[in-house]
Amino acid sequence: ANTTSEFDTIAAISTPPGEGAIAIVRLSGEDALPVANRIFKGRDLQKVASHTINYGHIVDPDNGEVVDEVMASVMRAPKTYTREDIVEINTHGGIVATNHVLQLLLSHGARLAEPGEYTKRAFLNGRIDLTQAESVMDLIRAKTDRAMQVAVNQLDGNLSHLIKNIRQEILDALAQVEVNIDYPEYDDVETMTSKMLREKALAVKNRIEQLLATANQGKILREGLATAIVGRPNVGKSSLLNYLLHEDKAIVTDVAGTTRDVIEEYVNVRDVPLKLIDTAGIRETQDKVEKIGVERSRKAIQQADLVLLLLNNSEPLTQEDQALLDATKGKKRLLILNKTDLPVKLDLSQVKKTVPQQDIVPISALTATGVDQLEQRIADLFAGGIDNSQSTTLVSNARQIGLLKQADQALTDVLNGLQADMPVDLVQIDMTHCWDLLGEITGEAYQDELLDQLFSQFCLGK
Ligand code: GDP
Ligand code: ZN
Repeated sequence: ANTTSEFDTIAAISTPPGEGAIAIVRLSGEDALPVANRIFKGRDLQKVASHTINYGHIVDPDNGEVVDEVMASVMRAPKTYTREDIVEINTHGGIVATNHVLQLLLSHGARLAEPGEYTKRAFLNGRIDLTQAESVMDLIRAKTDRAMQVAVNQLDGNLSHLIKNIRQEILDALAQVEVNIDYPEYDDVETMTSKMLREKALAVKNRIEQLLATANQGKILREGLATAIVGRPNVGKSSLLNYLLHEDKAIVTDVAGTTRDVIEEYVNVRDVPLKLIDTAGIRETQDKVEKIGVERSRKAIQQADLVLLLLNNSEPLTQEDQALLDATKGKKRLLILNKTDLPVKLDLSQVKKTVPQQDIVPISALTATGVDQLEQRIADLFAGGIDNSQSTTLVSNARQIGLLKQADQALTDVLNGLQADMPVDLVQIDMTHCWDLLGEITGEAYQDELLDQLFSQFCLGK
């Protein structure tokens, strides 16, 4: 096998920025070993065995200055992440020293890697396909255990495997058409061919639609179900939020370079990952009289897949309650009657005409009564959406979903063409188009811009 790389040697810090116990500077490419050797004092890295860890020092060859004491891992192609020679230098983790090591590599033969370039090389060198590369990114970003399992499943190549099978079926059908055309001595060859094509197209369409049916749950798992907790001031939003957060150890992500308004919080409710919207608005006003009007809630409601609308069970319905009820009409919502530990003052007779009984959930955020039932209700709402079997292959990626939809359309064209008695060679074109589109999913057919766009979403050093 050809193990030499056609690419230059790249370097980057592969651990997150900031101070840590160790940091890793990673080199990949055909000159990885000689470049590392130029600044490494210890054993000759070009002579050590592959997949070994070597103790030594990083020394600036220009002035003899010792920069850091390090461990250098040497991994020779092809059994590496990129399928190229890789050297990973474990430094002591200080920002200055780690950057200094990187600078030395850059001034002695390496080039700074672009974001995702290591994974891109793994793809270009044939170690992984596109769906697997995308799942590397999903793994990094996974917000819940379940999302992580889906990514691991995809990294294993399960989706690719499925797509490859479907493509093979299409190829078989196309080959069969050729055979039929080459042996036209049979009388009813035309009828036979279109019957066969129709059956194949239907079968393949069915499989693609099954995959597409998983897209919604895939999206929920990947991004979380956008959930807005709304209600007038003092109704108990913060209390419920804190209860949910406390209960499930939410993950808080600070979206880089933005204000605290868009802090994203995730909470798992019975394996349904909720991405809570506008929690900053709920939290910053704790204990004080809230000034969050209906207007602000409206924005959150718009973005939400699920609205949790709180009403105070111990007070009569107000205009503001009514406004929120109106604003959430047509949304998937649960009406939460809070403060059921207090005497009932709320009259819901009007509301009950439009809101189904099972969507009204009485709770007390103070005593945690009913919160279990609320969680169960949320889980039920999306039970159809979240499949718990570990083996399911889900598509969750917008690019993959887009291509599957186009492939599905191409098959509709095939079926319509057959229905209209179009010549078989025209139908073949649509069938081939479908095959091409599926190939783009796994990257067997791809365009350079796509790769650039895709891998640029990775973090540096991956
Ligand atoms: P928010 O303004 O909607 O976020 O409401 P908060 O969660 O800040 O709650 C307002 C007040 O109501 C606080 O004093 C809470 O302790 C109280 N509270 C919240 N939930 C309940 C409940 O179920 N029962 C009772 N009795 N008080 C509650
Ligand atoms: Zn609040």
